[in-house]
Amino acid sequence: MKTSIATVSISGNLPEKLEAIAAAGFDGIEIFEQDLIAHDGNPREVGDLIRSMGLEITLFQPFRDFEGLPEPLRAKAFDRAERKFDLMQELGTDLVLICSSCHPAALGGIDRAAADFHALGERAAKRNLRVGFEALAWGKHVNDHRDAWEIVRRAGHANVGLILDSFHTLARKIDPDTIRRIPGDKIFFVQLADAPQIEMDLLYWSRHFRNMPGEGDLAVADFMRAVVATGYTGPISLEIFNDQFRGGRPATIAKDGHRSLVALMDDVQRAEPAVELNLPMMPARANVEGVSFVEFATRGEDANTLGTMLKTLGFTHSGNHIAKQLSLWTQGDIRILVNCETTGYASSAYIMHGTTACDIGLSVNDAKDAVSRATRLGAKPFSQALGSGELDIPAIRGLSGSVLHFIDETSGLKDVWDVEFIGSTAPQTGAGLQRIDHLAQTMSYDEMLSWSLFYTSLFEMRKSAMVDVVDPDGLVRSQALETDDGAFRITLNGAETHRTMAGNFLADSFGASVQHIALATDDIFATANALAGNGFKPLPMSENYYADLTTRFDLSSPLLNRLQAGNILYDEDANGAFYQFYSRPDGGGIFFEIVQRTGGYAGYGAPNAPFRIAAQKRLMRAKGMPKS
Ligand code: MG
Ligand code: MG
Repeated sequence: MKTSIATVSISGNLPEKLEAIAAAGFDGIEIFEQDLIAHDGNPREVGDLIRSMGLEITLFQPFRDFEGLPEPLRAKAFDRAERKFDLMQELGTDLVLICSSCHPAALGGIDRAAADFHALGERAAKRNLRVGFEALAWGKHVNDHRDAWEIVRRAGHANVGLILDSFHTLARKIDPDTIRRIPGDKIFFVQLADAPQIEMDLLYWSRHFRNMPGEGDLAVADFMRAVVATGYTGPISLEIFNDQFRGGRPATIAKDGHRSLVALMDDVQRAEPAVELNLPMMPARANVEGVSFVEFATRGEDANTLGTMLKTLGFTHSGNHIAKQLSLWTQGDIRILVNCETTGYASSAYIMHGTTACDIGLSVNDAKDAVSRATRLGAKPFSQALGSGELDIPAIRGLSGSVLHFIDETSGLKDVWDVEFIGSTAPQTGAGLQRIDHLAQTMSYDEMLSWSLFYTSLFEMRKSAMVDVVDPDGLVRSQALETDDGAFRITLNGAETHRTMAGNFLADSFGASVQHIALATDDIFATANALAGNGFKPLPMSENYYADLTTRFDLSSPLLNRLQAGNILYDEDANGAFYQFYSRPDGGGIFFEIVQRTGGYAGYGAPNAPFRIAAQKRLMRAKGMPKS
């Protein structure tokens, strides 16, 4: 199955677009007439340029306002078509997309449109060209693929076929299974786009908010399942109009696009096993059973600060690596590694970002499979030279240069702690912290779709709705990704301005990374007491916060007093309650959160986030730390 993408989906000039598309692994492109006109080079040269990059031109588009016109407009439309045919022959492509007419004078009538297409098919056939008809969701008379198909069927011409576009079908809530009635050989081309579910004008929604399959809320996989069931074997092509992508890095957008198509087709093959798609085999999404470790890169005074923080949080320094300057800190099921190496990957990460979570270890069902799927989806495997006695733990590069290691039970990788670390005899006091509840990654807002696609295409995870978090100096978007059982949870926080707490962290650390780690306890008050005994200083919350809490929830005054005494924040959902308190941020803006969930509370305390951020900023301003 050939993969393709419309040139309009990517930013840059035509050569930049083509380079990014070819590098991402696509087989072909839909050339947008705009991109041809804007380019300084004749159509024949453009065709040669495209083919020199190993790409084929799968489609030329768009040709608008063709069918159903009265004379003399009808004759003019045919003349325009002949000129497009000339251009296609120069370029070296045989298929043109005609989208359903929005012309005010278009008359409508299925048979009139079919007659126009039959006549156009005759002209196209003389030149060995083909025409494909697409129903725009906002077409004047034709805005449903079922009507477009009826026109193509009645046109009854071998050179006239149907073009399907997932956006136009799904945005109008047309059942994609109706595609299963169409013969596969009469579908000439398939365009795919997803979109977030927003109530707005169809044309505006389509032109500005389309995104890659899997990045939005439309049932693109159901649409594609219906397409493959017809026997269609032509190209599958991304046609994405998105304001963010128009300003994004061409290489990133193209890579995301290719990743989304490969993941989608794998899902489609699994859901339609009776249809043979001849795709290269790839393991299913990995089941993440939890976070095995988080590794910080740090050094010198910064390492002491982190060590002190871990001690006051009740962690035990329970081992040192056999060869590296790498210490293991544990509590409950939580492992934190502190890497002070002066060479290698962690060292570079420290030099680049300051103290940073450079590596995340995930417990998965099968570590090798996890890497193999990630690699098929465009991720780069990661490895460093192994010292003697060290295990080869499969790993990949995440986004922004981060690293993800995979640990499983079956290949003995879980023994790494015994094999590579020499235990110390420090007693396990602990403060009741049991496991990592979630990791919070901060990134710029326009990277959020890339990260969510990365995680949801590699791992069995679902995404929750995006929420807006108000920072005193701007807005931060937050989206949670989580496994069904909650064993692995990540929140993505997208900053739009550097003046927000998240945006400032991003600027300071030169790129997306983990800004806070939430550690779960089963008794928040006992943990708060134990931490206080260790000299832990929580983030102080305002009195106003607790006064407001009494108006939001029905809390007894002893409970309220205990919350306030511990600077503990509170939230509820339909299932249960959530308790959380925070450490004070370190010099680079990294902090820890302590949480307790009861009764199956499913959120992350989003209603509290504005007050937490305001408290953090008060503290940082008082300490003369960066103002925003
Ligand atoms: Mg389209
Ligand atoms: Mg959190």
